[in-house]
Amino acid sequence: MSISAPQPLPQPADGVANTEGTVTDRLVAANAEYASAFHDPGMDARPVLQVAVVACMDARLDLHAALGLELGDCHTIRNAGGVVTDDIIRSLTISQRALGTRSVVLIHHTGCGLLGLTEDFRHELEAEVGQRPSWAVEAFKDLDQDVRQSMERVRTSPFLLHKDDVRGFVFDVHTGLLREIDPKG
Ligand SMILES: [Zn+2]
Repeated sequence: MSISAPQPLPQPADGVANTEGTVTDRLVAANAEYASAFHDPGMDARPVLQVAVVACMDARLDLHAALGLELGDCHTIRNAGGVVTDDIIRSLTISQRALGTRSVVLIHHTGCGLLGLTEDFRHELEAEVGQRPSWAVEAFKDLDQDVRQSMERVRTSPFLLHKDDVRGFVFDVHTGLLREIDPKG
């Protein structure tokens, strides 16, 4: 472990907690460093590979690294679980109709936080705050089946233009490998 004197933000990723400022201060400092070396690639907003990736927000899933993606290649649309909710359909509709994407890739993963939850989470929340959330928790017990359900929600959406190339996967957080899910089960 480093015993060096305190350094300005950001700290290197050496596992030593930064005691200066908040985590957001650290991110802002990292951004200043990023921008100092940034060159405008001159791209427009349409993804180069014409693909939208819908994935869980999990911190262990680095989509660009895991899929060999570069800046500007794709849309990444993320939420808890990577489940296809109305808001994901909203983003996919804009992605396809306004910004030219044609393919959809869905990625769930092993060890997902939603695997341990049930709709009881929603009931307990309602009991605590006195208000029923308008959204479903979208918890699931079977990863493969939930990927299939997500594929089906994309394929049956009336709002999307392109539904021929919709594929679903489970990412293994221990091996880094994708496993494709057969939509027919
Ligand atoms: Zn997850």
